Amino acid sequence: MKRLYEDYAYGPEPIKNCFWDRSVPLPQLPPLSGSRKVDVAVIGAGYTGLSAALHLAQDGAEVAVVDAETPFWGASGRNGGFCCLGGAKASDKTLVTRFGNAGKTAFRRSEKAAVTCVADLITRHGIKADCHSNGETVLAHRPQDMTALRRQAIDIKNDYGVEAHYISAPHLSAHGMTGPFHGAMTIPIGFALNPRKYANGLLCAAQSAGAKVFANSPVTKLQKNQAFSLNTPQGQITAEKVIFATNGYSSDHLPDWMRGRYLPVQSSIIVTRPLTASEQAAQGWTSLQMAFDSRELLHYFRLMPDGRFLFGMRGGIFATARANKAAARKIKADFRQMFPAWADVEITDHWSGLVCLTRNLTPYIGPVPGLSGAFAGFAWHGNGIAMGSYAGAILADLLQNKASRHPYPAALKTIPNRFPAAPFRRHLLHPAYVGLALKDL
Ligand SMILES: Cc1cc2nc3c(=O)[nH]c(=O)nc-3n(C[C@H](O)[C@H](O)[C@H](O)COP(=O)(O)OP(=O)(O)OC[C@H]3O[C@@H](n4cnc5c(N)ncnc54)[C@H](O)[C@@H]3O)c2cc1C
Repeated sequence: MKRLYEDYAYGPEPIKNCFWDRSVPLPQLPPLSGSRKVDVAVIGAGYTGLSAALHLAQDGAEVAVVDAETPFWGASGRNGGFCCLGGAKASDKTLVTRFGNAGKTAFRRSEKAAVTCVADLITRHGIKADCHSNGETVLAHRPQDMTALRRQAIDIKNDYGVEAHYISAPHLSAHGMTGPFHGAMTIPIGFALNPRKYANGLLCAAQSAGAKVFANSPVTKLQKNQAFSLNTPQGQITAEKVIFATNGYSSDHLPDWMRGRYLPVQSSIIVTRPLTASEQAAQGWTSLQMAFDSRELLHYFRLMPDGRFLFGMRGGIFATARANKAAARKIKADFRQMFPAWADVEITDHWSGLVCLTRNLTPYIGPVPGLSGAFAGFAWHGNGIAMGSYAGAILADLLQNKASRHPYPAALKTIPNRFPAAPFRRHLLHPAYVGLALKDL
């Protein structure tokens, strides 16, 4: 595989101390062996691949899903559990320039539809995913950010059809959100969940619908003659159609078209031991709202129903044991600075993984140009619970030449440009991080 980071990023270490292992271990499934003929082969068993497989199997297609490791070993089994608006990093201004006012609104509506898609999947398949939080709250880390948040109210109403709720600084503590913040805005869309329980629910639903899912089956070679032929170390699949659902764990050769079109970025998370009611009160953070601060290089956090506190932020540019230790030091220091009453509380878990960006800062869901019958969905810009699940449903329709059951705006159809100096593109993150950190001052 031609991957962008050091091998460490694709090995067992970054996910070794992942808190979600305690609720749902990674599933042990057999590898693909021998030859198999199906309608659709799906590469990657995260939210995107599993949702695509579920929707296709429900429509009667024969589907095989292969994952290089195990289902939801990638970002889908190690994220923060914020099922929220997002999926792109392009600003409103950029979206308007590229897609017009209507195109921007259409994209924003699809973000909301993506959250609804997950809520529907959870309900329809009876997935018990420990959901909590009424929408998502952004906390102003500077006074001027509160002014900027208040200015967004009209756009939020137009884009999402909901009213944003504001909390001024003196009232934050009454809402159980005490911290170094200057006010807050909640958009009442989205909820938090246990990402493994949700992923496992999708896996079980896809299997029940008839999809076959294989672990430890990296696709090492793909050829197209009449049909697609996919090779894994112990098996081979012939398929009419194929879906690439590998997101941040993609390889530059699978397919060649992907080369330089995506940029994996590290994100890391810590979780504390359960905080007692008096510890929560001492810090003044008792809310179960999922929240993030208004920084460009943001921190995201939530008190979980069992009293543990989850806190996440971006990771570094290098993926080595040493860089991982440095990232652990940094995230712990930021957490202790933001929540000083918990400075001595034991942090039981720290792990990291890869999210995925494009140069255009918008996701891609659609056909792979020049490779008839191949489709891809990637680049959720750190918010793939909703957008990845949604992409799977859209891809299922596209593959069957059906009109998409969900809104499918131009922003999701636009082919991502290649990054310059593609093999070295992660080093672009360094100046980008410096620039964003300066903006956050
Ligand atoms: C630390 C962290 C925190 C995050 N927090 C949030 C959050 O709170 N909310 C949110 O919405 N999103 C969050 N995200 C992002 C979200 O998890 C991802 O966007 C989403 O899970 C991507 O799903 P996916 O199915 O597209 O890809 P992934 O889940 O990454 O799955 C890709 C799969 O492809 C497989 N694969 C790769 N190459 C091959 C191959 N050649 N053959 C076979 N299989 C292959 C990999 O093994 C992997 O399992 C976070 C991500 C991280 C890392």
